[in-house]
Amino acid sequence: MIYLDNNATTKPFPEVVDVMTQFMTSRFWNASSAYGQLDGLEEVVESAKAAIRTLIGAAPDDEVVFTSGATESNTWAVAEGARRASGCGWILTSAIEHPSVGEAFDSLQEQGVDVRLLQVTRDGVFDLDELEAIVDSNLRFASLMFAHNETGVIQPLREATSLIRERAPECLIHTDATQAIGKIPISFAEELGEVDLISFSGHKFHGPKGIGGLVICNGAQLKPLIRGGGQQNNLRSGTLNIPAIGGLSVAASKTSRLLKANQDTVVRTVRDYFEQRISCLFPKACILGSQAKRLPNTSFFGIPGSDADDLVHILAGEGMIVSTGSSCSANSIEPSRTALLMKYEYKEASTLLRFSASYENTIDEVDVLVNKLYELSSREHKLAL
Ligand code: PLP
Repeated sequence: MIYLDNNATTKPFPEVVDVMTQFMTSRFWNASSAYGQLDGLEEVVESAKAAIRTLIGAAPDDEVVFTSGATESNTWAVAEGARRASGCGWILTSAIEHPSVGEAFDSLQEQGVDVRLLQVTRDGVFDLDELEAIVDSNLRFASLMFAHNETGVIQPLREATSLIRERAPECLIHTDATQAIGKIPISFAEELGEVDLISFSGHKFHGPKGIGGLVICNGAQLKPLIRGGGQQNNLRSGTLNIPAIGGLSVAASKTSRLLKANQDTVVRTVRDYFEQRISCLFPKACILGSQAKRLPNTSFFGIPGSDADDLVHILAGEGMIVSTGSSCSANSIEPSRTALLMKYEYKEASTLLRFSASYENTIDEVDVLVNKLYELSSREHKLAL
């Protein structure tokens, strides 16, 4: 199988599976129990937090709270934002956020909260002129993503958050960094320095599913989303998922090492080769966000005359996995909302496929995929050259 849907999920590293198996068989204790403490499970949790801080360059006093994943982290951050805006002020997000942020904002708007949406340019980048025009001191919460899950566009987060800090000192700032973390080296000071809350998810960087977290910076104080036994400093109750936390820790540490060894540039070579071949064989193909700064592994592209849904199914039948975009809308035949917001026509948006590579993909795999696309285009005359 050629797996090129790594923005949807990644294959856990073998070391992750090994450590999880250990925690599910011989070290299955409750971390808060006497056995758990004797067996050093608290240290397992602390070293997982340290591994996450290293991966994003956060400071030792930035708190890491484990959740069931980025959806929960985003939900928590937005709930806190709504609390802070109640009775005064307004809250901001972009029009292209993942549904776990976008739908949380929609629901707040239905409840009467003053919600404003930042639009994007043709390249899928936040419109900073619009931001400049709308931000005022009544802004209480902003949630702006770091890198987009479909286009891979890396947003000008620092510019946006600096402007917000300057004009709205009371604003709590959150970023959904789920797609950026693990795919690019992050300079915390340069990119995340103004951010208070950062969401991440283990399964996007070869860790387990069902584990992620919220990094709390600048001493931000949050109300708990889940109350109960008081675990994690009363911020997120529930018995700690030690197998997942142990697996996440291993994935984060290995990913830090891979990024240090510039493996992201190797992934970029594979993605760039893919785009070169696509542009050569299909000169009318479009690549969304190609003029913007993007994740090195992602290509959101469309071949005129094709139907993305059909292609995903045909390719899957041949053992090649790509997607039509956001995995959460993968069952829908609606084309990418993000592409429509970037002012692509409905017909063009219906052709879009997302290629997302990982450290494991090779140039040879790209050749197999591109040759198959070319063969389909000539054999079935489904794709216009
Ligand atoms: N945010 C972004 C940008 C994502 O791409 C995803 C997953 O696709 C999520 C949030 C949700 O992450 P999780 O699966 O950990 O809930």
